[in-house]
Amino acid sequence: MTDSHEAMLYEKLDGQKVRCGLCGHRCEILAGKFGICRVRQNVAGVLRSLNYAAVVAVNADPIEKKPLFHFLPGTQSLSIAAAGCNFQCEFCQNWQISQSPRDGRGMGGQAISPQQIVTAAINYDCASISYTYTEPTVFFELAYDTARLARESGLKNAFVSNGFMTELAVETIAPYLDAINVDLKAFKDSTYRKIMKGRLEPVLTALKALVAAGIWVEVTTLVVPGMNDSPDELKQIAGFIAGELGCDVPWHVSRFHSDYKMTDAKATPIETLELACKLGQDAGLKYIYCGNVPDKADERTYCPNCEAVLIDRAGFSIRGINLSDGACPNCNEVIPGVWE
Ligand code: SF4
Repeated sequence: MTDSHEAMLYEKLDGQKVRCGLCGHRCEILAGKFGICRVRQNVAGVLRSLNYAAVVAVNADPIEKKPLFHFLPGTQSLSIAAAGCNFQCEFCQNWQISQSPRDGRGMGGQAISPQQIVTAAINYDCASISYTYTEPTVFFELAYDTARLARESGLKNAFVSNGFMTELAVETIAPYLDAINVDLKAFKDSTYRKIMKGRLEPVLTALKALVAAGIWVEVTTLVVPGMNDSPDELKQIAGFIAGELGCDVPWHVSRFHSDYKMTDAKATPIETLELACKLGQDAGLKYIYCGNVPDKADERTYCPNCEAVLIDRAGFSIRGINLSDGACPNCNEVIPGVWE
């Protein structure tokens, strides 16, 4: 049996059944069975996390790669993942590690303790730890234990997530979580059900809870031709961010390249990305970034008041930061984010 660790956030029901409270699936799991994510198992009435000791990736990445653009720009983030995901997106770019427990390839990875992860982050001169590549919600226990230790060592913590987490999960991680990038993948529940095998509403609820908890939130939408690229749907996404989360929340509009099971779909036309950016501006969003378009994308941060260039980026590297105590040095407009 895989090394396991008792899960957090579950209830015991009658007859050794349990209900997991970590993500929107809220699986009710009989003894001996697994949750939808396949990384949580009911072992004799106790829910166990099977991927606590299955770290499949550890890299020091620029924080810009997450992407997080208003969070400690120009710093490195120790980026870790354990196997598994609660979604099954057909266009997943990390399916080798996110879907391995589901498709029979097992957990893989190795046991790396929270203390070892924090020590590695310090040794690599990282300012933060990112829980990323797969879905941090389903390696919650490892992320939670590591984030607490990281905070004690003066490091910040960031999730890169599909946002399909319960309000209880948000509330539990909030004291240690500084930032999160959430993929808002569509604005139709039918797309979430069909392509991701999830639902839209829990993602919207979690996004509002994350903002309300004071965590720095950025949103990414991978624009996939034929899936979420209609002007109406892009407008709805931009309108939700502006209306429910706030115009200060950055929106990363990202270009799709075919992957995993969606190998027939074409790359997103540049004009579609430009339209998305325009719709974001019309909705009132102040910070819109166009990703995955080498040479063409303008991923600089401009002052929304006087249009001065505040952060100049090229790919994942920073060419210059022109902020004075988190404000535009030209007109003193306060720029939201975590700068120190
Ligand atoms: S994390 Fe989500 S998918 Fe996994 S067992 Fe819990 S509720 Fe089910």
